[in-house]
Amino acid sequence: MPLDEYRRKRRFDVTAEPEGKPVKRRAGPKSAALAFVIQKHRATALHYDFRLQWGGVMLSWAVPKGPSLDPATKRMAMAVEDHPIEYNAFEGIIPAGQYGGGTVMIWDRGTWTPEVPDVDAALRVGELKFSLAGDKLHGSWVLVRTRPRPGQKRAAWLLIKHRDAWATTDDIAEKAPRSVVSNRLLVEIARDEGGDMKRAADGDPRALLRNLLDHLDEGRPASAARPARRAAANRRTATSPAKKKRLKEK
Ligand code: MN
Repeated sequence: MPLDEYRRKRRFDVTAEPEGKPVKRRAGPKSAALAFVIQKHRATALHYDFRLQWGGVMLSWAVPKGPSLDPATKRMAMAVEDHPIEYNAFEGIIPAGQYGGGTVMIWDRGTWTPEVPDVDAALRVGELKFSLAGDKLHGSWVLVRTRPRPGQKRAAWLLIKHRDAWATTDDIAEKAPRSVVSNRLLVEIARDEGGDMKRAADGDPRALLRNLLDHLDEGRPASAARPARRAAANRRTATSPAKKKRLKEK
């Protein structure tokens, strides 16, 4: 069944990720736009999850280095389990200890258009040409499956930019590191939603982190004392049962 693997890997009473509605596999009207999303994900390692809507699900690849706008740079893209279409709206924290635990950012999104007459056939053959219309990514791309190596569980693909007006040697991951929906860095998502800020921060460009630290005390009137007060309150309540017992006996 579609999404079985996705659901098997997650505990929806623990994670905020969507369970996804039952999938009706239908092509839909030809004119309907197909969604794409790229989620920057600081889990065990930083990667970019590249997802294309097809057959009622989001086909998904994990791209360790993220997409490159330079046609000379091929980026490894490991096929991963299909995700529900509702996942496209997910930005936030996957709790530590859960599958994919860490911080998720919606790095880019928009629509994609196949540049092949038969997408299913292209996926079978292992060469899917398409164009993207996102906030950050545009123009023509290709996903090419590499020859499977022995013992490899999942197919490795390469994500490559075609030569067109959108091709450039600029490093888009470095130049446009923020969320397209909230304008936040990974560290800001972790801060706002109770994630691991230190871990999230190593997925953000260092210059921007420095800037963030330099402006930490601006625009926060009268709130400067709050973190210290909270820390003091935590210390007061953090009395171990053994110590409580000792105190009682005194
Ligand atoms: Mn991921």
